[in-house]
Amino acid sequence: MNANSPKQPADPKAMSVTPLESFPPIDQWDNWVEYDAAAWPKRVKKTYSLIPTTCFNCEAACGLMAYVDKETNEIRKFEGNPHHPASRGRNCAKGPATLNQIEDPGRILYPMKRVGERGSGDFERCSWDEVLDTFAEKIRKAIVEDRKTEVMYHVGRPGEDGFLPRVLQSWGIDGHNSHTNVCSSSARVGYTLWCGADRPSPDHANAKFILMLSAHLETGHYFNPHAQRIMEAKTDGTKICVIDVRLSNTATKADWWLAPYPGTESVILLAIANVILNENLYNREFLRTWVNWREYLQAKAPDEEQTFDYFINHLREHYAWATPERAAEECGIDPASIHEIAHEIHKAGTAFSTHIWRNAAAGNLGGWQIARALEFLVVLVGAVGSEGGTNLNSTNKFVPAPFSKPAPQNVWSELLYPLEYPLAYHEMSILLPHFLLEGRGKLATYFTRVYNPVWTNPDGMMWERVLRDESLIELHGAMTPTWNETAQYADFVLPMGHSAERHDLVSQETHAAKWISYRQPVVRTKLTREGKSVEFTYESNPGEVWEEDEFWIELSWRIDPDGSLGIRKHWESPYRAGEKVTIEEYFRWIFENSVPGLPEKAAELNITPLEYMQKFGAFLVEDKSYRAHEKPLSVDALQSSTTADDDTIHSDGKPIGIQVDEKSFEGFHTPSRRLEIYSKTMVDWDWPEQDLPGYIESHVHQKHMDRERGEYVLVPTFRLPTLIHTRSANAKWLYELSNSNPVWIHPEDAQKIGVGMADLIRVTTRIGYFVNKVWVTEGIRPGVVACSHHLGRWRLFNNNTGTDRWGSARVEREELGEGRYRFRRTEDIKPFESADADTKRIWWTDGGVHQNMTFCVQPDPVSGMQCWHQQVTLTAAHPDDHYADVYVDTNKSMDAYRDWLTKTRPAPGPDNLRRPLWFARALKPATETYYVNPPPSASPSTSD
Ligand code: SF4
Repeated sequence: MNANSPKQPADPKAMSVTPLESFPPIDQWDNWVEYDAAAWPKRVKKTYSLIPTTCFNCEAACGLMAYVDKETNEIRKFEGNPHHPASRGRNCAKGPATLNQIEDPGRILYPMKRVGERGSGDFERCSWDEVLDTFAEKIRKAIVEDRKTEVMYHVGRPGEDGFLPRVLQSWGIDGHNSHTNVCSSSARVGYTLWCGADRPSPDHANAKFILMLSAHLETGHYFNPHAQRIMEAKTDGTKICVIDVRLSNTATKADWWLAPYPGTESVILLAIANVILNENLYNREFLRTWVNWREYLQAKAPDEEQTFDYFINHLREHYAWATPERAAEECGIDPASIHEIAHEIHKAGTAFSTHIWRNAAAGNLGGWQIARALEFLVVLVGAVGSEGGTNLNSTNKFVPAPFSKPAPQNVWSELLYPLEYPLAYHEMSILLPHFLLEGRGKLATYFTRVYNPVWTNPDGMMWERVLRDESLIELHGAMTPTWNETAQYADFVLPMGHSAERHDLVSQETHAAKWISYRQPVVRTKLTREGKSVEFTYESNPGEVWEEDEFWIELSWRIDPDGSLGIRKHWESPYRAGEKVTIEEYFRWIFENSVPGLPEKAAELNITPLEYMQKFGAFLVEDKSYRAHEKPLSVDALQSSTTADDDTIHSDGKPIGIQVDEKSFEGFHTPSRRLEIYSKTMVDWDWPEQDLPGYIESHVHQKHMDRERGEYVLVPTFRLPTLIHTRSANAKWLYELSNSNPVWIHPEDAQKIGVGMADLIRVTTRIGYFVNKVWVTEGIRPGVVACSHHLGRWRLFNNNTGTDRWGSARVEREELGEGRYRFRRTEDIKPFESADADTKRIWWTDGGVHQNMTFCVQPDPVSGMQCWHQQVTLTAAHPDDHYADVYVDTNKSMDAYRDWLTKTRPAPGPDNLRRPLWFARALKPATETYYVNPPPSASPSTSD
């Protein structure tokens, strides 16, 4: 109950996106009074400032509302922000658990400097000045000596748009590395080949049929914003199909649950396409207008009539093999369901929304073809960019520009984009240790930021090896809000703020709209509102926890103190010439100049754009964003343009749009400006057999499995909706909910192996094994086992330098021989003394089992994605096995790396290019760098 009688605002809709009945009215946000739950049964009133921020506990960037105690400036709780266009006042369990992260008694409050050997676990407190001077000197030297590929920033969860890439480009280095090839690079290739945008943005709320590959709500992106819209659609009668080998929570709510053999998903999708084509269920006008069928025919049937009807006939013939019966045989599903789903898709027409992330795309060799086949269905019924259909991320994400844009770097790092992987959608992040150990380079300075490769990546012991080696990585700073398995090998551990302790700007493609969300340090905002002076965010944070943006501004100034390197000018105030920009000025300029509609909206309320964002936390830039491909070309763009026979509009030798019925549209961001069913890029880059959406047999295809020898597929890609990759061991509420990850196994298989519920099983991979309990369930198909990630956190030491004790077990790292290691649990999770009385109430002991370290690297030769699914051998645990044992033989790691390398088809491609010019890069360098030496003439490839 509220202590005040809450008065609803006169027009709640005008004030908030969702006028939740129970939410405090906006006019009371600065002075909200309610009873203190902790004082019950006494009625003690507490007065709060309600200050919005943005959740950082997954990629969705939902709105949070911090309740800041007016007297003590403590954050007492987090609820949803009803003004946020995507989350609309709602959150998943991980949002409110931000409070646990802030209050965690084991959190890192001061910068720490290593004092023993790397990996010894011995650190001491140091000053931020020492940190900044050490890194600035090392980075400046690398830049001045033209070693611009030796500075690397390796990011796990970015959680922001544009700030950090701008930092790196202002330094002129090619040093952005990401986690994307353990996450999503495969699906991104499938989408890019179609449309030039690398992610889908399904309009679930308005869909008439929803098709999701994988347990989307748990394993996909945008958990809460998608979940609430899917449930709205379902309530309105929308049917749902989930294709996932595992009976997920989402699958239990679906109208169809298909559990195909892993890696065969393309065949189901192509069989649906086969039905749509053969029964004339496709959207003729959409295909005729927007698909590059002329280019298809010129390549595939140059001597035949070049008509749309012939194209359709050719497609029918090409996919004639993909019958529902063939799919049923290959995938192990019911053929009738394929017919039913094809008809449902036809009925939905342009209101057909789809999504895929991780799982099938991330699990399999050729997973990118699964995403491509899924988008094929969307294209066939014309549901691209339509209401209720599947938009492009580029239509629904908005990233405003800051006040100056550094030039692209003029250097190319082959540690990030090596010649062997010219089409890799993101950096070849998982291979960094292998490249360093092969002598391909070294790093002078390496930042890991919210990134824990020792634990997260495959082949974690190879990461441990290079992180210990000071000749390969000379200086390592771990920027992290919490201790983790990688930070303990760093030279400096740099504590960074949680979501209520930092500034960021984020936008995500959660639905058919464009929005921005402002993450802000809520206590700083409160103090500033009260007229108190706060120069840096760390002054209002616990201990000396910095916010990253201010760290990067300070570091950039120290790298270039006199401005001679051309770095400093990008970090000077746009309001005070020659002076250092403050973080508020940085965002103030963006809000005043780069966000359409925001200044006007703020003026209506008689506040500045910055004050608007501080008050509401989010802004809806555009609602109902559909059909971006039909955006008219501007008059300027059309000047000096020419239109080719196929209606493609060119300017300066490059395609810029297409003409339809005498109107000029921007089209899609592909070389043909159309949706490319036929990819000339794949042909030009030596993959001619993959010119169309198709099926690639996975590395875990059942023909590779000898069941008599106990060989199975392990699906390790599903995640639990209540945990946060490697950042939830500091969240007590979440660990109380989820603290074990047994291996899912079908009863038939359990019987064959001779194990029952909760027995121990040894799961042997190519380079090692782990020992876990089994969970016998019919929720997984026979022949396949599954184990969730997030769990099995470990720490080596009994001090505070390992992973948080709410969620990690003590282990002993034993070297059993040259390159062979075993991690054996020496102590379960247990209660401990701390400033938080709840640490003495810990009742769970398990914490789960780590698996990723036993996986070798398996990069897809096209997308570069780690093919996560594993061919494993299952046996009952051996007599000397202990629960949670993890064993790795790193002598086998390099062999596996080299095996997978033989699958690649290296650059250079056409015109001596390293990579197609039209393929994005996270931090795109200058065009000249795309060419392998010697640089050719400037003219770009016709295929690009
Ligand atoms: S889905 Fe949950 S964890 Fe993700 S941003 Fe929203 S509230 Fe935070």
